[in-house]
Amino acid sequence: MRDVLDARRLLATHLQPTPTRSYPALDRATGTHVVVKHENHQPTGAFKVRGALNLLLRLTPDERTHGVTAFSTGNHAQAVAHAARTTATPCIIVMPTHPNPTKADAVRDLGARLVLTGTTFDDAREHATALAGEDGSRLVSAANEPLLVAGVATAYLELLADAPDLDVLVVPVGGGSGAAAACLVAQALAPGLEVVAVQSAASPAAHDSWRARDLVARPNTSRAEGLATGTGFALTQAVLREHLDDFVLVDDDTIDRAAALYLTAARTVAEGAGAAALAAVLADPDRFAGRRVGVVCSGGNASPAELRRVSAHLPR
Ligand SMILES: *Cc1c(COP(=O)(O)O)cnc(C)c1O
Repeated sequence: MRDVLDARRLLATHLQPTPTRSYPALDRATGTHVVVKHENHQPTGAFKVRGALNLLLRLTPDERTHGVTAFSTGNHAQAVAHAARTTATPCIIVMPTHPNPTKADAVRDLGARLVLTGTTFDDAREHATALAGEDGSRLVSAANEPLLVAGVATAYLELLADAPDLDVLVVPVGGGSGAAAACLVAQALAPGLEVVAVQSAASPAAHDSWRARDLVARPNTSRAEGLATGTGFALTQAVLREHLDDFVLVDDDTIDRAAALYLTAARTVAEGAGAAALAAVLADPDRFAGRRVGVVCSGGNASPAELRRVSAHLPR
């Protein structure tokens, strides 16, 4: 927790707290009291900027000169590119070919060098690791980085200050830094709070790793980029193994339904991963009925194609 409080102090001059909101229409649709943490309101449209800034602001001048390399399906890329611009650090981003164009454009707009390779997150990881080995830059993993987890945890400090009486908190998982951060903060500040992680059934590696208590690889075909990882990550899985209460899977269509509900009931844009926590509530209403449920709307960088698909779920 020392690290989390240090991160909060460091980030305070760079990021404003994001809103915590409730919506009667969302409560009606879910039969619960839903409290939304709006990380889709971050300057990069997703929570990951907290972790990237916390890491890059702490690099030594020598490390900054050598630059950073990151691999990502999008939001980690934007986060590192934003933090690199803030700290005047050279930055290479590796993404799978055919990325979400909203995210790729944002990375270019932030001045990073963008390299597209392979088809999945895991292909991008291999290429970025090789690049960083060649040019001596600092490889910034999307999950195996304690400073990312500490930075991301500041979101949960804000949430628990705004909503101290939650019964359960639902957090979307890709690499697991968000859920690990939620567990660490909940354990310190709200030990009775149940923390539930959610991943897509089309990309269940983190879920299956947690259940197996081992790092496993799985098919990785979710449309929700933020949830689409093919293996468990050691650092975050170790935290989740110790502190997480439950881990559920939702299908991608329920995620689209949740994104449509965010549009109509909360007037907010969630990308697939950003809608996954609400999807978990929609998928299992009995479990959450009548409880105070915190859901993390972790990102809003939906592509045009995604918004068109989600709009099919809007009420007529
Ligand atoms: C990365 C991401 C996630 C998953 O977070 P992890 O910390 O990798 O588990 C969820 N939602 C969005 C919008 C993301 O970008």
